[in-house]
Amino acid sequence: MAEPFNIVVVGAGPAGLAAAEAALSNGARVAWLDAQATAGGQVWRKDLAHGWPRDAQNVIERVTQHANATWMPQTQVISAESGQLLLQDPSRAWRITYDALILATGARELLLPFPGWTLPGVTGAGGLQALAKQGWPLAGRRVVIAGSGPLLLAAAATAKRHGARVLGIYEQANKATVQRFARKLWHWPGKALQAASLRAQLAGIPYRYGSIVARAIGDGALQSIEVDGPHGVERIACDQLAVGYGLVPNVELAHWLGCAMQNEGAHPYLTVDATQRTSVANVYAAGEVCGIGGRDCAWLEGRIAGLAATGASIDGSVLRKQRHARAFAAALREHFALDPYIYDLPDLDTLICRCEDVPLHALDHHDNARSAKLATRCGMGACQGRVCGTALAELGRFPRSGLRPPLFPARLATLGELDSPCSQGSFS
Ligand SMILES: Cc1cc2nc3c(=O)[nH]c(=O)nc-3n(C[C@H](O)[C@H](O)[C@H](O)COP(=O)(O)OP(=O)(O)OC[C@H]3O[C@@H](n4cnc5c(N)ncnc54)[C@H](O)[C@@H]3O)c2cc1C
Repeated sequence: MAEPFNIVVVGAGPAGLAAAEAALSNGARVAWLDAQATAGGQVWRKDLAHGWPRDAQNVIERVTQHANATWMPQTQVISAESGQLLLQDPSRAWRITYDALILATGARELLLPFPGWTLPGVTGAGGLQALAKQGWPLAGRRVVIAGSGPLLLAAAATAKRHGARVLGIYEQANKATVQRFARKLWHWPGKALQAASLRAQLAGIPYRYGSIVARAIGDGALQSIEVDGPHGVERIACDQLAVGYGLVPNVELAHWLGCAMQNEGAHPYLTVDATQRTSVANVYAAGEVCGIGGRDCAWLEGRIAGLAATGASIDGSVLRKQRHARAFAAALREHFALDPYIYDLPDLDTLICRCEDVPLHALDHHDNARSAKLATRCGMGACQGRVCGTALAELGRFPRSGLRPPLFPARLATLGELDSPCSQGSFS
């Protein structure tokens, strides 16, 4: 028997937290869940050494301790249909039902292949942040941060706070473009302050424009990198490289539910109306899953979705702030567009699917993801194509496909639930 809730919120980042809090304030019985063990999502991931930021901790405690809230950590949505979700945590699989569903599934990093990118010591920029916050030792290690966008500054600051020697930040966008973006920041004073604070924390660390990591070199682990920049190729000895090329919305669950998307083909994101309603009845969405907009935008949209899903009215000023925050997202996209040179970096032997060790040349005779998957196992590993499928879409090889349950690798007992008699007609 599925457990019933008024509102189910998937994702406990800023969008999910704001949605849950708003729905609770309107008297709803709310379940909120996240694949992670602690709430906070990406930006407010709990740091083992430093805890949560104070604001995040306050809201997490308020929501978790609310009498009408049921918090489900380490819980993944495996499938969804007809007002039901099939969930899995480390010990069981079960179903819940909802009157309204709020998708706050956030985003993941865009990782693009280049020679050496699978060496131990190479991670994403946000990936390095996550590792550091979870206790990965960085003290004294020589770290290079590279890729594109403001996340590089946040990653460098986290690495520094954890004792790393940050050798430099290498941004692929050119100087003129980044400076144009910086000049526009006054439109968003909160962002301008955040940027100024990060630059102050990173004083003395070189920030290079128009620079792309072309190769990671090492015998069994990272030892050095080659950076291609305005003054030619520079070789840098380092222990850790963190490269992130921006973020990609996590739309897999929304896709399975049939929600309309924009930007189909490359990295789709959800289409929502002014009250965060998707094209599917009783399904709302907020935050990065609606397009990369950052923390403040995620928070505002979560609040709007939580109020709308419970039938409460929404203050016009919140809607205006949300539109303003979305304009920041558009500015980000415009100024940090990727240099096509990055797409030419992988050579024929570069691994594309790092879960299943599939090199680029193995994909030569395939013109769609399904054919490549059947012949090479590309996309069939633990990440289920979230890394390689997304990279291949960005490289223009073929769009990501196969977005169907199980949405995460599932235990046999969970797969049994997909076909169990009591779910017939609901899950198939
Ligand atoms: C690795 C990384 C690091 C980042 N670091 C920063 C930073 O330092 N500063 C900054 O300003 N921005 C950072 N960002 C940008 C960040 O995405 C946003 O600023 C903010 O976290 C967005 O909030 P959100 O609630 O939309 O999504 P998120 O914070 O991404 O939260 C979404 C949550 O949904 C959960 N989830 C997704 N799908 C499922 C599912 N099917 N079942 C269960 N749970 C699910 C995820 O586990 C995640 O916790 C980072 C992004 C990434 C990817």
